Amino acid sequence: MRKSLEGRVALVTGSTSGIGLGIARRLAAEGCTTLMNSHIHETAVDELRREIVEQTGATVEFWLGDMGDVSSIHDMMRAIIADHGNIDILVNNAGIQIVSPIAEFQDQAWDAVQSINLSAAFHTTKAALPLMLKRKWGRIVNIASAHGLVASPFKSAYVAAKHGMVGLTKVTALEGAEHGVTCNAVCPGYVWTPLVEQQIDDQAEAHGISREQVINDVILAPQPTKRFVQVEEVAALTAFLCSDLAASMTGAAIPIDGGWTAR
Ligand code: NAD
Repeated sequence: MRKSLEGRVALVTGSTSGIGLGIARRLAAEGCTTLMNSHIHETAVDELRREIVEQTGATVEFWLGDMGDVSSIHDMMRAIIADHGNIDILVNNAGIQIVSPIAEFQDQAWDAVQSINLSAAFHTTKAALPLMLKRKWGRIVNIASAHGLVASPFKSAYVAAKHGMVGLTKVTALEGAEHGVTCNAVCPGYVWTPLVEQQIDDQAEAHGISREQVINDVILAPQPTKRFVQVEEVAALTAFLCSDLAASMTGAAIPIDGGWTAR
């Protein structure tokens, strides 16, 4: 049976771990030629890539590119387009988190969060969108966050970048609307990934409490379901947004946050 996204070329930035890896697995399972990306190429990445190929039968490639470095993004996008001729699906997922009160927030840390979490999505979109517009089909999914809709203390750079990503999503959606190109932001609550694992220690220090208290009283406190969102749930939503049935969904910022932003 033909898979739903067979023949599509999908690039997922920051896809060697956590949510991005889950999305790469899912898009490969749906038949996409799947382009994984990270700024570091470790042996473990080749094993992951081989594992996804074995499980899905899809073509899966790894593309080195630092989403915090504009020229690295330009080089990677140019090389991908030269090789594949097109990018049908772009998932802007790469992201980092740095937790600190504003008064102590390091300038370089602010810049790094803005460039990886927000500017990278602009640069990849700028490269891929013209081809999508020309071919009259494209899907851009920006992995924002519940923090693209609401704020938390100590996360100034992250909250600002994710709100910015929601704004970029709306503009991209309007520019693509008459050309079969959609753009949506997915806004997860807390998903258990290495990014959150690292925050537990940072938050414990910022609040002066234990890891267990951070998990129960800080991390899961705003999430009414009191459970972590699963990577597979975010991947399934992303795959739906990439399908033909999602043609009328565009410019949306979709919470997948256990009820966090319903409060
Ligand atoms: P993660 O740390 O598990 O994975 C991040 C991925 O991005 C890794 O593959 C890493 O190699 C890559 N990456 C980091 N810096 C990069 C760079 N400069 N260039 C290219 N790749 C880079 O994180 P995650 O939790 O899976 O987060 C993925 C996205 O989801 C992020 O944008 C994050 O803000 C967002 N998000 C996460 C959560 C959560 O609770 N985990 C919630 C909402 C939104």
